[in-house]
Amino acid sequence: MKVLKIDHLGIAVNNIEEGRKFWGDILGLPFEGEETVEEQKVTTAFFPVGESEVELLESTSPEGAVARYIEKKGEGIQHVAFRVENIEAALAELKEKGVKLIDEKPRIGAGGAKIAFLHPKATKGVLVELCERG
Ligand code: ZN
Repeated sequence: MKVLKIDHLGIAVNNIEEGRKFWGDILGLPFEGEETVEEQKVTTAFFPVGESEVELLESTSPEGAVARYIEKKGEGIQHVAFRVENIEAALAELKEKGVKLIDEKPRIGAGGAKIAFLHPKATKGVLVELCERG
């Protein structure tokens, strides 16, 4: 598999508007607008920074993964996303290597990217997202 770069850091926040005050207003990162991905019970906001981006994540429901993360650990970095050339091939390779996956098949995330999560148990505690953008 070919990992191209860190695509983005996913940061769990209680409120994107509040988050924008630091990432947008204070750090001065451009704000690219919000997008709600209902299936994943999350609203995202992307802030490009160099070759990568900061992704703020606000849960749309108390049952969402982001809400549960904040309940357990508080606001903060929730996942690291690596851009790969071919996500299907990457998942097949990881599966063959015995890596525990949350998503065996890619789903569609914010911005229409194909995404899949690896299980934190397989990565020493880091929730890793793979993503492929067209
Ligand atoms: Zn992400």
